[in-house]
Amino acid sequence: MKRGKQPSHHCSFCGRGEEDVMILVSGMEGQICETCTEKAQEIINQELRKHGMNYNDKPDNNAGSGNKSFAKNVHLVPPREIKSFLDQFVIGQDDAKKVLSVAVYNHYKRILQQNNKVAAKDEVEIEKSNVLFVGQTGTGKTLMARTIAKMLNVPFAIVDATVFTEAGYVGEDVESILSRLLQVCDYDVEAAERGIVYIDEIDKIARKQDNPSITRDVSGEGVQQAMLKMLEGAEVLVPPQGGRKHPEQKLVKINTHNILFICGGAFDGIDKVIARRINTQVIGYGKKENERVDRDNLLQYVSHQDVKNYGLIPELVGRLPVIVHLDPLDLETLRRILTEPRNALLRQYEKLFALENIELELQPEAVEFIAQKALEYKLGARGLRSLCEAILTDAMFEMPTSNPAKSEKRRLVVDREYAATHLDRSRLNSLNAA
Ligand code: ADP
Repeated sequence: MKRGKQPSHHCSFCGRGEEDVMILVSGMEGQICETCTEKAQEIINQELRKHGMNYNDKPDNNAGSGNKSFAKNVHLVPPREIKSFLDQFVIGQDDAKKVLSVAVYNHYKRILQQNNKVAAKDEVEIEKSNVLFVGQTGTGKTLMARTIAKMLNVPFAIVDATVFTEAGYVGEDVESILSRLLQVCDYDVEAAERGIVYIDEIDKIARKQDNPSITRDVSGEGVQQAMLKMLEGAEVLVPPQGGRKHPEQKLVKINTHNILFICGGAFDGIDKVIARRINTQVIGYGKKENERVDRDNLLQYVSHQDVKNYGLIPELVGRLPVIVHLDPLDLETLRRILTEPRNALLRQYEKLFALENIELELQPEAVEFIAQKALEYKLGARGLRSLCEAILTDAMFEMPTSNPAKSEKRRLVVDREYAATHLDRSRLNSLNAA
C-alpha cells in the first residue's frame, strides 16, 4: 500500500494484500492466506469435535471404506461421548452401547497407559477386554463394531468364523483373520496392531453336544483352540494374502496384544439354555418373588456360563470377558431405524430422488407400514431395505428423466396405500405366505 497502488492479489477472506501475508494460495475464483487457512482448519475441527469426530473421520475417509489413512494415535474420548457417537448411528440397544463404550474406552486407555513410560513401571497391568455380542441376526452387532472403529479411526476388519478350520483341513487358517486387517490398512503393521476385528458367527463353531464323529473334530472346537492365543495377545505369523499358509510364503509378524477382538453370534436356542439356568436358580436358590423374569427377552440375562453350556470352550469364553446382549428389534425400533440414524434409509432414498429433482415424502403411516411388514416377515432391520426397494422400484424406474437439472421439480408422496399396493405387486410379498 505504501506505493499507493492496489495489490494485484489479496486474500479473499481477510482482504490483506500479498505484501502483508506470507503465502497466498490461489483457487478458481480467489485466494486464501496462511492465517485464514489456519482459522478455517480450527473451525472444521471444532465442528467435527461437536459431532464426536476427528479430522480423519470425514464421510469419505472412514475406516473400512477402502481409504488407508489412519490416525497415528487414537484420539480417546470418555465412554459417554463414545456412546453419544454410537447413538447417531445405532438405534436402541442402550445397554449394549453403554457396555461397549466402557470396554472400548478401557481397551484404548490400556494402550495409552502402556505407551506412558512412568505408568509402565507400575506393576499393575490392565488386561485386555475383548467383547462378545449375543443377539439375533440383523440387530446391529456389526454396525456397532464398525461405528466404533470409524469413530476411533482405527483399521477394522470383519471376518466370518465359519470359513476357518483347524490346520490340516480344507478352509482358511485362523491367522488369516489378521490378513484381512492388514489388507484394510494397506499392510501398515503398526496401524493393524491397534485395530478392531469383528469375528461374526462365532456361535457356529460351538461344540455340538451330539457330535456325530468321534475321530475328527467337525464341530469347530479345534478352531476355537486355534483362536485362543490370538485373542489373548501373541506374536502371530500372518499370511499377507490370507488363505492357507504354505512353506514358500513370506509371513508378516503381528502382535495382537492391542487388537480389540469383538466376537458376535446369534446363538440360536441359547434362550433355552438361559431359561433352564434361571429356572434352576428359581427353584434351587429361592429367587426373590418380586424379581420378575422377562421371558420375552431372555437374552438380557445371558451369562458366560450360558455361552459355555452352548458349546464355546471355557478358555475361549475366558478371553471374551465383556459379554453384551442385543435386544430383538420391536416395531418402534424398526420405525426409528428407518428415519433417525445419520445415514437412515429414508434419508438415502430422499437424496436419491432429490438427484432426480424429485421431492420424496414418506408419510408416517407408510413408515409404520414398512416397519410392521419387516416385523411380520421376520426380516429384521435388513429387511427394511428390501421393503423400501420393493415399494419404490416402480417410481425409480419411471420417474427419472435424461436431464434432471432442467426438468421441473416433482413430488412423490408415499402414503400407506401407495406402499401397500406397490408391495403387493412385488415378489417380496410372496414372503408373506412363508
Ligand atoms: P448383525 O447383528 O447381524 O451384525 P448388522 O449390524 O449387520 O446386523 O445390521 C444389519 C443392518 O441393519 C445394518 O446395516 C443397519 O442398517 C441395520 N440395523 C440393524 N440394527 C440396527 C440398529 N439398532 N440401529 C440402526 N440400524 C440398524
